[in-house]
Amino acid sequence: MTSFDLIVVGTGFGSSFYLHKYLQHARSDARILVLERGGSQDTNWQVAERRNSDIDHTATFLKQGMPDKAWRFTIGFGGGSNCWWACTPRMMPNDFRLKSLYGVGRDWPISYDQLEPWYQEAEEIMAISGSDTGTPFPRSKAYPQPPHRFTDPDRLLKAAYPDGWFPQPTARARVATESRAACCANAVCNLCPISAKFTVANDLAGLYRDDRVTLLLRAEALAVETTGGMATGVVYRRDGAEHTARGDLIVLGANAIFNPFILMKSGLDHPLLGRRLHEQTSVDALVYLDGVDNFQGSTSITGHGYMLYDGPHRSRYGACLIESWNRPEFRNEPGRWRQIQLLKCIVEDLPLERNRVALSTEHPDKPVLHFESRSDYAMRGIAALDEALPRILEKLPVERVEIKRPVNVTEAHVLGTTVMGDDPSDSVIDGDLVHHRVRNLIVVGSGAFPTGAPANPSLTISALALRAAEHLHRPGGRSS
Ligand SMILES: Cc1cc2nc3c(=O)[nH]c(=O)nc-3n(C[C@H](O)[C@H](O)[C@H](O)COP(=O)(O)OP(=O)(O)OC[C@H]3O[C@@H](n4cnc5c(N)ncnc54)[C@H](O)[C@@H]3O)c2cc1C
Repeated sequence: MTSFDLIVVGTGFGSSFYLHKYLQHARSDARILVLERGGSQDTNWQVAERRNSDIDHTATFLKQGMPDKAWRFTIGFGGGSNCWWACTPRMMPNDFRLKSLYGVGRDWPISYDQLEPWYQEAEEIMAISGSDTGTPFPRSKAYPQPPHRFTDPDRLLKAAYPDGWFPQPTARARVATESRAACCANAVCNLCPISAKFTVANDLAGLYRDDRVTLLLRAEALAVETTGGMATGVVYRRDGAEHTARGDLIVLGANAIFNPFILMKSGLDHPLLGRRLHEQTSVDALVYLDGVDNFQGSTSITGHGYMLYDGPHRSRYGACLIESWNRPEFRNEPGRWRQIQLLKCIVEDLPLERNRVALSTEHPDKPVLHFESRSDYAMRGIAALDEALPRILEKLPVERVEIKRPVNVTEAHVLGTTVMGDDPSDSVIDGDLVHHRVRNLIVVGSGAFPTGAPANPSLTISALALRAAEHLHRPGGRSS
């Protein structure tokens, strides 16, 4: 049986950024196996079919609890980089210390400053476009690409809140690169027809063509084999048959639903494994403008508002990040059809242990997503918008604000099911994403997140994976 130096499960953000850094350090004769459950569907196929994969993701899991709760992801080469909207804010420094500062949730085992160089590197790999005149979080260098063009409502918000309103950082290209076109602002980013957004297929496909790497598509990882507390290989299914690949190091990057499922199937139980399943909660608001036309921006989401994000309120209810959408929502009034703005208000949730990924005795090949409710903390944050949103919009020529209810069924993020921490009794993996008990097993992805800040997770997933891979190669020389 062939043995590998590294076996990687999945080809999404966590796996691909880990592999990127690993290959920079690996020997020229290193042997790496990548197991990807899905196939590889290119942009033309996706646009023609109006879907990201030939595997229906809703058929890969079961649901219990809240009937209207949805979960979204892509099974296929590149994972969520196919369907993502490419919004790439960093988390804020205080998001890493919610417990110390506000007495709620948990602190992360690493700080913003420790992650900052890795945010920077991930942003360079994805050629992120972002503000060139200040950001809400500290940065060591400028964004690789200039910001997207604001709309007129964004300009008014920036004038009213110079330290609160910013161009949204995004992997939707502002300027064409060798592999990507400039964004055309058509607002169908989940099926970007011109390859303007970063995907694994357009910017990191070279990893999978490396001579050291063997990529097996349609290979579903089932379990990690362990002996004497060390991982020895991965059992996977391909063409209807089960196989075992042997490896010295295993990286699980199957997303925050399938990572805990695979760990459970491997007998690597932990009281928190699969628990704390959560994501942010959002509502849309329509702002009826008075004499201000909209939709001049150069991408689908142009602005980011931090006015309701950090502060003492976080001891009672969640931070809110506001997105301004440059996707036409027309008014049915002559001469005023562009005088409207869609704002999406994204509120952090606090993970609840009763919400979880679990095994099913009836359907052993599918995880059950048992989700009872969002936290009161998140819902109080949503309720606070009734007063707060009209108040902050008073500085603009606004006729009225309509906050839609109920909340959106999903943010398309999955967080918190293999939580990281320093204490092995209270976390599944450590701050370097290494499994506490099986030290040659790395678990990448947003399952690691101890809390779910409003920021979209994929930039943080990528930065954490780069850092984890670097630390594996420089265990004595950790600078961050
Ligand atoms: C419509 C939509 C829009 C989004 N927009 C944004 C956004 O703007 N910004 C943002 O930050 N995030 C966004 N996200 C979320 C983002 O896609 C996820 O955060 C991200 O993809 C998670 O990365 P990951 O590497 O953990 O998992 P994934 O990217 O999901 O990758 C998991 C990989 O593992 C494979 N896999 C699964 N099970 C197995 C198995 N058993 N064996 C082998 N392979 C397996 C999958 O096929 C996939 O390749 C969006 C998601 C959706 C659905």
